[in-house]
Amino acid sequence: MSKRIMAYLGLGANLGDPINQLQQALALLHHSGGVSVRRISSLYETSPVGYLDQPNFFNLVAEIDTVLPPTELLQAAQKVEQCLHRVRLERFGPRTMDVDILLYDHRIIDTVELTIPHPRLLERAFALIPLHELTGEIILPTGQSLDEAMRALPKDQWIKKRDFSW
Ligand code: AMP
Repeated sequence: MSKRIMAYLGLGANLGDPINQLQQALALLHHSGGVSVRRISSLYETSPVGYLDQPNFFNLVAEIDTVLPPTELLQAAQKVEQCLHRVRLERFGPRTMDVDILLYDHRIIDTVELTIPHPRLLERAFALIPLHELTGEIILPTGQSLDEAMRALPKDQWIKKRDFSW
């Protein structure tokens, strides 16, 4: 039997019906071969970062276990984005679905197509806060403490937990 690896995915959407799309994305991931969604964080509403003239995002983090190697997990994530008709207009711009690999096991990966831990994990409240909700304090493979990263988050990012039961 293949070894099952624990990984964390960050999901976000701000076009169409974002909450419905997040539900669909979780179902698609769970039913794509080789991925099981174990736990999901609360749902968060966040203001856009970078490209500001766009609707608020809805974000969550999913803890999965997977038998897929990292590049195949990236392909599975991109397939979910495509299934939900992601249109890539602007970098950091509006999207029907964004799926990022935040952590994969305790691995550091730095290739042209994949950087893990996700390169912007520590500076983005919408990724870090739901991840920390699931994991509590952990030390990343790159050596940073999640608790410390939480304390160091820039205070100008608006993020609000939304009541929602899946
Ligand atoms: P984005 O527009 O944020 O969805 O970026 C997608 C691009 O980032 C893809 O071409 C991926 O190859 C690349 N990428 C690098 N590291 C990651 C990661 N950890 N998770 C998802 N995409 C990644």
